[in-house]
Amino acid sequence: MTEIEVSDGVVATRWQRGTVRELRPMSPDLVALRIELPDRIPHLPGQHYVVRLTAEDGYTASRSYSIASAPSDELLELCVERLPDGEVSGYLYDVLEVGDEIEVRGPIGGWFVWDGRTPAAGIGGGSGVVPFVSMLRHARDLNPAGLLKLAVSARTTQQLPYADELISYGATVVMTGMPGGRRLDATDLGPLLGGVATAYICGSAGFAEAMSRLAVDLDFPAAQVKVERFGPTG
Ligand SMILES: Cc1cc2nc3c(=O)[nH]c(=O)nc-3n(C[C@H](O)[C@H](O)[C@H](O)COP(=O)(O)OP(=O)(O)OC[C@H]3O[C@@H](n4cnc5c(N)ncnc54)[C@H](O)[C@@H]3O)c2cc1C
Repeated sequence: MTEIEVSDGVVATRWQRGTVRELRPMSPDLVALRIELPDRIPHLPGQHYVVRLTAEDGYTASRSYSIASAPSDELLELCVERLPDGEVSGYLYDVLEVGDEIEVRGPIGGWFVWDGRTPAAGIGGGSGVVPFVSMLRHARDLNPAGLLKLAVSARTTQQLPYADELISYGATVVMTGMPGGRRLDATDLGPLLGGVATAYICGSAGFAEAMSRLAVDLDFPAAQVKVERFGPTG
């Protein structure tokens, strides 16, 4: 069993080796990994796993990846955006194959989580939409109509993970890098934040800062904003 400690609802975990059961390319730079774990610990949407790669000489590199799967899914799903010269994302995108084993630790995080029971808004940029995919899948499982509202942005549709699923869920989707494109603004966030208990914001440091400021400018209480930044690791 990988679970070693439970304190205030936060579960500490050990490393384990999962098996890649499916690799689903989503666009030229995005791939979903579906992984079977020997010791699956229930997660809440918003949590993440750490993936650790170990070279033959013992060198290791670890990176965090948000969970995209719903708690009800029998496999763990992560979504990786391949970054130029990215050490870990490049390996996961270019080298990893179905049937390979991969070392992971999780689920991690007790702050940026949604249990599916309170009205919430998710605001995501680029690969920062991944935790909201877990949230929307959980919302669909629980069937609480309208409890989760989403607004997301990316440079292009190809750079938006799970674009079809987000659009069919009813997320507000804006593109910054297409002709006539724009950024998420007060006309999107105003209606989105009405009546919600918590606003979850996830994306690059710049995106997270701009969206947090916008929420507070719209008089949304800062104490009810939860932010996850996808900055460079280390
Ligand atoms: C809690 C958390 C959850 C995350 N979830 C996801 C996820 O679901 N999907 C996902 O694809 N990534 C996610 N990330 C980012 C991920 O952990 C790595 O930072 C990313 O995959 C890059 O690692 P790398 O080894 O490929 O790049 P590196 O070799 O570390 O860096 C390569 C180049 O990219 C730059 N860079 C590194 N990270 C980023 C970044 N995040 N954005 C822009 N430039 C960067 C570096 O400065 C460098 O120039 C998450 C990060 C955190 C902290």
